[in-house]
Amino acid sequence: MRALVTGCAGFIGSHLTEALLADGDSVTGVDCFNDNYGRRDKLRNLEHATQWDEFEFVPIDLARGDLHDLVADADVIFHLAAEPGVRASWGNRFDSYLRNNVLATQHLLEAAKACPEKRFVYASSSSIYGQAEQFPTAESTVPRPYSPYGTTKLAGEHLCQLYHGNYGVQTVALRYFSVYGPRQRPDMAFSIFARAAVRGEPITVFGDGQQTRDFTFVSDVVSATQAAAVAEATAGRVYNIGGGSQVSLAHALELIERFAGEGLQVRYVAPQLGDVRDTGAETTLARDELGFAAQTDFAAGLRAEFDWVRDSEMSSAGPSSSAQGTT
Ligand code: NAD
Repeated sequence: MRALVTGCAGFIGSHLTEALLADGDSVTGVDCFNDNYGRRDKLRNLEHATQWDEFEFVPIDLARGDLHDLVADADVIFHLAAEPGVRASWGNRFDSYLRNNVLATQHLLEAAKACPEKRFVYASSSSIYGQAEQFPTAESTVPRPYSPYGTTKLAGEHLCQLYHGNYGVQTVALRYFSVYGPRQRPDMAFSIFARAAVRGEPITVFGDGQQTRDFTFVSDVVSATQAAAVAEATAGRVYNIGGGSQVSLAHALELIERFAGEGLQVRYVAPQLGDVRDTGAETTLARDELGFAAQTDFAAGLRAEFDWVRDSEMSSAGPSSSAQGTT
């Protein structure tokens, strides 16, 4: 199988690319090195993939280029490229969210409508739910994004559904819940916390630390994404992909303190606009139709991320710092 992976230099896209290559697939990876974080980090994410002969890298911006040949050459499309992150989506940067999340998705779907039989897997987000009122939250819940980012991810989902409805494109949207693990984006909470713990620097937590997330380990997200490419009778649908438990930020900090072997200096400040209080995924549909079941114990997954951060810091090539801290 030849797969097209957009966002292949990103956190999740690079893991997906490697998993596909390891399974014997060929991968055409697209990325434009968007400036949401450092190019150096993204090049590092690609280091393993570029060692495979079956990997081809195409450095283009999906919001601009002609994508017809790319889509025509692929058997399956995994669309992960996006401008992620809740907090940066306010203000002037929203422009970039519109381009990379909405326009880029529309361009890719325009190309896909010429070969609608191909599976088109779209990386959506739990952020489309906003401040959910019921937990675990099922796919049938009416989406009410609470951040500009969430609205753009929901727009992408809607585009997938309408290209499915009108042109028969075999779209499947996966609502990932707070993904963590090695290579996590430098603006995300665990990445920031682990880096501060290793450096002995203070940690700022937005909110009281009791907010919860359904954290999902990156290899579980990758397995679900691969399954969505081949599962029968799923086109046009959306699925929650969650880690299986709601964990508070305070609990994650306790674990990081244990891994670091010394006390953390934690400062609590007001919550950030756009951040929701809790998330929790109802994953029955993904289990029944994609065969999905999260495999990774939270403490073990967080340990893997902590070790990666520590090793990166020790090799003095740590991810670039960021003032943000999205979960
Ligand atoms: P990431 O920023 O690490 O990866 C996204 C990649 O897409 C980047 O390398 C970026 O350069 C590339 N990109 C952006 N716009 C592009 C364009 N126009 N053309 C080509 N490449 C472009 O982010 P991530 O955390 O790996 O997220 C991957 C996907 O998963 C995104 O769609 C995101 O919305 C979704 N998601 C992530 C999480 C999470 O917790 N990380 C949760 C829910 C959903």
